[in-house]
Amino acid sequence: MNLKDLTPDELVAFVRELGEPAFRARQLLRWIYTARETDFERMTNLSLKLRSRLREKAEIPELQLKEELHSEQETTKYLFTLPDGEVIESVRMHYLGEDLGPGRVAVCISTQVGCAMACDFCASGKLGLRRNLATWEIVDQVLQIQKRLDEQGERVANVVFMGIGEPLHNYRNTLRAVRMINSPEGLGIGMRHLTVSTSGLVPRIRDLAAEKLPLRLAISLHATNDALREKIMPVNRKWKLTALLEACREYQEATGRRVTFEYVLLDGINDSVEEAHELVRLLSGMHSLVNLIPWNPIEGVRYKRSRPARVRAFQEVVEQSGIKCTVRQEKGGDIAAACGQLRLSDLKR
Ligand code: SAH
Repeated sequence: MNLKDLTPDELVAFVRELGEPAFRARQLLRWIYTARETDFERMTNLSLKLRSRLREKAEIPELQLKEELHSEQETTKYLFTLPDGEVIESVRMHYLGEDLGPGRVAVCISTQVGCAMACDFCASGKLGLRRNLATWEIVDQVLQIQKRLDEQGERVANVVFMGIGEPLHNYRNTLRAVRMINSPEGLGIGMRHLTVSTSGLVPRIRDLAAEKLPLRLAISLHATNDALREKIMPVNRKWKLTALLEACREYQEATGRRVTFEYVLLDGINDSVEEAHELVRLLSGMHSLVNLIPWNPIEGVRYKRSRPARVRAFQEVVEQSGIKCTVRQEKGGDIAAACGQLRLSDLKR
């Protein structure tokens, strides 16, 4: 049994099966998530007998660090190897729209190996989807990064599900991971500091709304009409903008949370002032935040990033409407810390 893949309740059931009282599960959780221990032998408040049963019946695996790249802009990219040899990436940032404060960092984590969404401008989908990540493989990205921060006295304070993969395409494990990262018995990071980003899987957004969690939702919008969105994001063939925005309104009503709309600016494709006005129209009546993202170039993809003057003009239109609009500060471009670039270049190597 992989103890890291169990929720606190499931771990209680597991220790009961071993004939042990429920508090053993709490002890194990403290060892795993607070002490960051993986060796049963060192879990000295467990009886020798229990430790040897656990050695026989259970394991506490870890993601293996394959490569670590430091950017000059306080961004670190981690490439992790999974037990089956697949590779995923996670990013650590000291900045997330605003400074997080001293000793506090944000991490961006993956939910799948590869991605099925095939967005035209994104490196993650270029090789398709290999598989979903297990719950523990999602959570362990945060745990492994936190473990490396322990020495410096730094703490992961925010988690964004914006790495490789479509979180809502791996709905079950993403949600289990959200709960584990949030649980006081797990990593104890407030739900309000967790953001799930989606390309727009409408039925799953509805499911998530029904969970009524104070979880932040980000939508990768990137276009203001169906014709263009379909061209750059195939997911829009199935779920159109109207349905997507309706699901966002539902999410907002159910959770009381402001919805973030991400908008990657592609030169001459989706960055006109007219489109900025159209965006404002689409979002009217919704409590939202627009995050403009400078596009990170990908080898072999023909787009260009918007020029700063066009970014500013776009931002001004949105802000003047009263919608808060930030421009994502670029960090880590020098280490290919953008959107599946590192995994792709690692696979090529
Ligand atoms: N699949 C989810 C989460 C992962 S992508 C989603 O689509 O939201 C995280 C964000 O990065 C998305 O907004 C995505 O559109 C954006 N993105 C992808 N490739 C990019 C690139 N090359 N430059 C800038 N942003 C990119």
